[in-house]
Amino acid sequence: MDQEKIGKFIQEKRKEQNLTQNDLAEKLNITDRAISKWENGNCLPDAGTMPELCKILNISINDLFSGEIVDMKDNEKKLEENLLEMAKLKEEKDKQLLKLEIVIGFTASITFFTLIFVASYIEMAMWLRILLIVIGSIIFAFGMANAIKIEQTAGYYECSDCHQKYIPTYQSVLWAQHMGRTRKMRCPKCGKKNWQKKVISGDKND
Ligand SMILES: [Zn+2]
Repeated sequence: MDQEKIGKFIQEKRKEQNLTQNDLAEKLNITDRAISKWENGNCLPDAGTMPELCKILNISINDLFSGEIVDMKDNEKKLEENLLEMAKLKEEKDKQLLKLEIVIGFTASITFFTLIFVASYIEMAMWLRILLIVIGSIIFAFGMANAIKIEQTAGYYECSDCHQKYIPTYQSVLWAQHMGRTRKMRCPKCGKKNWQKKVISGDKND
């Protein structure tokens, strides 16, 4: 906090209200020396005095700490910038996840088919065949469950009728007919069942 800037700001606002240091001191029930110390940037008003001081000077506590009137428009702009930044980060993360999904699905499938192949065509004890098939099936099921989880949560599905973008339930993603990432599901907004594309951005205009 810039004490000097705050001091000048208090002085400026006091003069705007046509108050002398003495007038302000009286209103706040403190000495005029205290006012002079603030305005010279030697110290800050104490917390107990601040609300009343701000009321008299017609400023917010935020203005007081900033040593100037804080523009509400700037506040909103800053907030918007931060939200956009966060949306971008999520999109990047979702893209990475969807790539990972392909790797997981591919690895799980290859492992599964390799183990089934080995268990079917190579000479070995029956218990070992069964063990390989069980292990293969577990890896496959585990891989697919994770891949579908990513498919469900990364990005959004877009209804081809009303263009609503939404995150479906795991069950609906799991059981839906699909062609690649496009799935036939029921839209929660318009209730129609149609082919829905996976999109990365939740932005309405994209
Ligand atoms: Zn719809």
